[in-house]
Amino acid sequence: MAGVIRRLDEAVVNRIAAGEVIQRPANAIKEMIENCLDAKSTSIQVIVKEGGLKLIQVQDNGCGIRKEDLNIVCERFTTSKLQKFEDLASISTYGFRGEALASISHVAHVTVTTKTADAKCAFRATYSDGKIKAPPKPCAGNQGTQITVEDLFYNVNTRRKALKNPNEEYAKILEVVSRYAIHNSGISFSVKKQGDTVSDVRTLSSASTVDNIRSIFGNAVSRELIEVGCEDANLAFKMKGYITNANYSVKKCIFLLFINLWK
Ligand code: ADP
Ligand code: MG
Repeated sequence: MAGVIRRLDEAVVNRIAAGEVIQRPANAIKEMIENCLDAKSTSIQVIVKEGGLKLIQVQDNGCGIRKEDLNIVCERFTTSKLQKFEDLASISTYGFRGEALASISHVAHVTVTTKTADAKCAFRATYSDGKIKAPPKPCAGNQGTQITVEDLFYNVNTRRKALKNPNEEYAKILEVVSRYAIHNSGISFSVKKQGDTVSDVRTLSSASTVDNIRSIFGNAVSRELIEVGCEDANLAFKMKGYITNANYSVKKCIFLLFINLWK
């Protein structure tokens, strides 16, 4: 007997879609870091509790979000980075689809506190299932944005059960932030557990790429690096990076690769 075809509930559709973007705390943090970078931040601080399952807090000093935009910021397909299809050819931001915050808000409780340069004060709003819960409230705050994500997957039982090990999740978070920190010298990053005084990853805005490799992977690697690079105008291709020289040998190979489109 043929099954009855029914249209899925919008909330179900959104929750399933969210599960494809956000599978674990480290994915949510990656999306939030990319938003901080798109907002031209020079300082990005991450605090987590229970490997990000209980709490993720990402604070930046970027451009902030306009109060008027806070109503729709967590809805699906709302973005400040793309207006028309043709813009895709010249886009220089990490994001453009307006799906990340929406996805996160469908599987967690999200609070955004933000201040733009010309606003007199900061504003705070909380979201669930893509929607703002009450009008934004004025509050104190520095320029930039702080996003907190609480109780990730509170409404996705299967996912929550699959992510039982906070230490494993924390290790993945450290890995994601480390990679972005190395790729983005000139911007300071830090990650710590809530309540800790010392950070587990910390880079300074004055540090070079090699300094960042040193602080994350240690001096044994950073002192044996050779700068490599090449460029091909015809292929519109440019590569730069560091590899270890012949003095350096270890069993474990570490390979960090970032691929970007250049305009
Ligand atoms: P996208 O990055 O694809 O635009 P997101 O869901 O990640 O979509 O974010 C939606 C919008 O929220 C962004 O376009 C941006 O305007 C705003 N936003 C999110 N995070 C930040 C941030 N840290 N600083 C400033 N604006 C932000
Ligand atoms: Mg984004």
